[in-house]
Amino acid sequence: MLKRYLLAPGPTPVPPEVLLSMAMPMIHHRSPDFIPVLESARKGLQWLFQTKNDVLILSSSGTGGMVGSVNNFFNAGDKALVINGGKFGERWAKICQSYGLKVEEMAVEWGYTVKPADVEAKLKNDPDIKGVFVQAVETSTGVYHDIEGLGKAIKNFPNTLFIVDAISAIVAQDLKTDEWGVDIMVGGSQKGLMLPPGLAFVSVSDKAWKANEKSKLPRFYFNFKKERENLVKNQTNFSSPVTLIIGLNEAVKMLQNEGLENVFARHARLANATREAVKALGLSLYSKESPSNAVTAIEMPDGIDGQAVYKTLREKYGVTGAGGQDRAKGKIYRLAHLGYADTFDVIIGIAALEMTLKGMGANIELGKGVAKAQELLMQ
Ligand SMILES: *Cc1c(COP(=O)(O)O)cnc(C)c1O
Repeated sequence: MLKRYLLAPGPTPVPPEVLLSMAMPMIHHRSPDFIPVLESARKGLQWLFQTKNDVLILSSSGTGGMVGSVNNFFNAGDKALVINGGKFGERWAKICQSYGLKVEEMAVEWGYTVKPADVEAKLKNDPDIKGVFVQAVETSTGVYHDIEGLGKAIKNFPNTLFIVDAISAIVAQDLKTDEWGVDIMVGGSQKGLMLPPGLAFVSVSDKAWKANEKSKLPRFYFNFKKERENLVKNQTNFSSPVTLIIGLNEAVKMLQNEGLENVFARHARLANATREAVKALGLSLYSKESPSNAVTAIEMPDGIDGQAVYKTLREKYGVTGAGGQDRAKGKIYRLAHLGYADTFDVIIGIAALEMTLKGMGANIELGKGVAKAQELLMQ
């Protein structure tokens, strides 16, 4: 038997409380049974997103929420500024292009963050830009972009929407949607929210709803106006993913019992211990600036293939993390500390990484990273 541990940046482990809540018999989504369920989910998501606006609930993976954030608010030919600092930034560009938006890419070197002043300068130069698209956490590089700073830079442009893919960031990073002027924020179920894949969440500001009235792009399934009309009646436009929403309520209840500040502090503590353990082993972080609290991307020593590290961790030690994507493939290994994660998830991840690297002939002193993490996690 090989005991399995899931330390990937999504899907993440689902707590037993949430799993059990989803074992309830099916209820009908147009019956009165479902109304309190959806009402509770609505309120819970507003709390989590730190917004007074509606947070739409879609049955799709996170990318469905990203698609809807493009085809509900823009028109073909609209200019979009896409911050592209990794695999998911690239996805924004591809979605925008597939709907005929004119994409201007702001390329950010992988492992680095976008500078809000650069975005502000771009907008000053070209006030026709209708939307700025970015990731809160660029999961492929482990970097957290400065959403507060970007919000401040974009706020003064009345024709520009600020759209944030926070799919891997929500729960791990303190994101003040309303206070920071985020117009559209996208979340997903299988990362910080400790649920199986299958739900996307999108918060929409008044400014964005105004743009929605002028947007003529084709849409049928992801029709946000219709979703909003249904949401106020505690329904969704089509059959509701009842089971996942019941699980969502249980997950939000757990987070509320912990308290939002404590949730963020826990992620900061686990991320810090992971980063310091990596450094104690003589390894480098792939995120050269602003490493996130959701996932740590670790550079592999010379001559060690990150994909082989991923495979050995999985097959020999039962630990599923993540390798690198695209140009980072083979060069990095990623350990998440996201959602249902605590002290011993970090210890397991670091211990297994030490054993794997040592076994592959890297110059690693066993226990050095673990000791560093233990020291920090005792505090
Ligand atoms: C996981 C992830 C997505 C994609 O989510 P899916 O649920 O696989 O569609 C998008 N953006 C970021 C930053 C992610 O981490």
